[in-house]
Amino acid sequence: MVVLALLDGTIVNQETPLLRGDDLGLLRGDGVFETILVVDGKPRELGPHLDRLARSAAMLELPEPDRAAWVHCVDTVIRNWTGGPQLALKLVLTRGPEFGDGTPTSYALGMPIAAKVLRQRAEGISVVTLERGITPGLAERAPWLLLGAKSLSYAMNMAAVRYAEKVGADDVIFSATDGSVLEGPTSTAIVARGRTLLTPPASLGILPGTTQAALFRAAERAGWSVKVEPLQVDDLTDNDGVFLTSSVRAVTRVHTVNGQALPDSSALHGELTALYESEY
Ligand code: PLP
Repeated sequence: MVVLALLDGTIVNQETPLLRGDDLGLLRGDGVFETILVVDGKPRELGPHLDRLARSAAMLELPEPDRAAWVHCVDTVIRNWTGGPQLALKLVLTRGPEFGDGTPTSYALGMPIAAKVLRQRAEGISVVTLERGITPGLAERAPWLLLGAKSLSYAMNMAAVRYAEKVGADDVIFSATDGSVLEGPTSTAIVARGRTLLTPPASLGILPGTTQAALFRAAERAGWSVKVEPLQVDDLTDNDGVFLTSSVRAVTRVHTVNGQALPDSSALHGELTALYESEY
């Protein structure tokens, strides 16, 4: 099932056409989005997701999202959801129709979590590292590239996943031109070394992850040290565990990098998942 609510709280039947053909979100991917995990009726990290929606909108010079209206809209989707205990809730904000009155298009969409995601959560994944063509300092030098904005222009990210699948892997970790680790196409990369968790800084032009932040919060409370600092591709095979985090996938274990099997990190994965879940 799918539940769709407009920003004003109106529920729209799944079968009813919603977008105009000239919507700039559709024509140019000109808009922003968020995907929130909802468990047992509670949206996880709603505040940080709404903060990031506002940050992405500012980067695209879209009107500032109406926070109270989005909270109400999220609540409306959740109240109308009659599917399973978990759903992925997507917030979509586009620049609106090209030949309209300038009003953005805004809606929220509740969807079931794909079986593939649930399987990967349970079994772990293999990844390949792929170049993203980002040089150090590019995000700051070239704000028009929108690096680190959660924009609707994800065609490149999805192409990278298809490329990975063609070469026999499940997913991707992007690297920069200097060999530093960036992020997955829809996830944050985390490396565990001893009792330390490391993730690359958002200043490299990547999305600050809400799941990574929640996990680091919980890990720090449990006595781990957490570091946000550059990592090299070599660090992905020299560690005690590699994980991809995202709202819907939570903490997913990487078992293979570029065809090289990593030492078994199942126990560590169990520990980190329990830490992450302890936040809710
Ligand atoms: N990086 C990218 C490019 C993403 O698209 C996502 C989420 O979809 C993430 C990281 C992880 O962010 P979060 O944990 O907030 O879902």
